Amino acid sequence: MKPATAIINGSALRHNMQLIKSLAPHSKICAVVKANAYGQGISQIISQLAPMVDAFGVARIKEALTIQETGYAGKIVLLEGFFDKEELLKTLSRRFDTVIHCFEQLELLEQAANEWLAEQQKGFWQRKTKLYFPVTVWLKIDTGMHRLGIHPVQVAAFYQRLKACALVESVQFISHFSRADELDAGYTEKQIATFEDVCRPYDVQRSIAASSGILYWQNAHYDWVRPGIIMHGISPHEQPITELGFKPVMTLCSSLIAVRTHHAGEPVGYGAGWISPKDTKIGVVAIGYGDGYPRNTPEGTPVLINGRKVPIVGRVSMDMMTVDLGAESQDKVGDEVILWGEELLIEEVAAAIGVINYELITKLTPRVLTEYRD
Ligand SMILES: *Cc1c(COP(=O)(O)O)cnc(C)c1O
Repeated sequence: MKPATAIINGSALRHNMQLIKSLAPHSKICAVVKANAYGQGISQIISQLAPMVDAFGVARIKEALTIQETGYAGKIVLLEGFFDKEELLKTLSRRFDTVIHCFEQLELLEQAANEWLAEQQKGFWQRKTKLYFPVTVWLKIDTGMHRLGIHPVQVAAFYQRLKACALVESVQFISHFSRADELDAGYTEKQIATFEDVCRPYDVQRSIAASSGILYWQNAHYDWVRPGIIMHGISPHEQPITELGFKPVMTLCSSLIAVRTHHAGEPVGYGAGWISPKDTKIGVVAIGYGDGYPRNTPEGTPVLINGRKVPIVGRVSMDMMTVDLGAESQDKVGDEVILWGEELLIEEVAAAIGVINYELITKLTPRVLTEYRD
């Protein structure tokens, strides 16, 4: 009998990547695999995707190191750059691409370059420093997200200093959309216009599109696209993307560990919050908030058992949840329960719980087993 298990479908993953490539045929792909590849298991996802992509993008240096430890020798981009000098030195020795989004990072890099050059002046036997390499810098420009990035008026100065820096191999421009999933907001057009204005004087590679940008803003694919969530067949917003041909990669499932006769008027679980209006059967499912299924899940959120949707009732506890199977149920202990997957889309579950898809998958805990299939 399976405990909480995420089944990862490798062929669906590769199918989705192929679809992304056909949507952005002229762009290189930086596959974003931060947060344990969105909870899907980083090393497996890397090995599936490595032959199909041009780079991997991560948010923490630890994630970049993990990828390199799998033996992957290609490009890895630190999407927020290095956080301090120690991380910078690792970036330089491991040859990661790095974003630079602020003045403090630029100064650290320049300092490191000066120290590096001073070392180079010394005779070979006197040198102490480790081997560092010039790296590709993705200069992050704030085109309207107002989270990270330099102001457009600062671009010329940053660009010049980066070009003059001995530890910079090349410079590319990167930005990020804040409302690319809102097709009528009129905001993305402004971000695109700003980005194009800023880039115009420079002969640089450009990147602004993440998942929503890839799906909805064909004119903003530029040299690099950065898909994250859509690789997993999951929508960047509420509307499923299976209609666009994407296939859900993950099936989150568990098992019924008890089926109990339950009488009208009896409550179930902590706080006795739900009281059954009728005689029924209650199924106990081996998954809870200790696996990452949200505790604040409202009653009525569906799970799939033997091909039919049944509602969660009572409070989700750490290791278990309870569902109302109905009086006529034939479900047995050991039967599989699907929390989300191809037949019960995560978009429906996320909407019922009131969270975004991204949050559901990234909050799965290490207790959830992963199983890879093709
Ligand atoms: C997370 C992230 C992405 C991927 O976002 P999705 O919406 O999952 O495609 C792309 N670029 C940057 C800079 C990111 O931080």
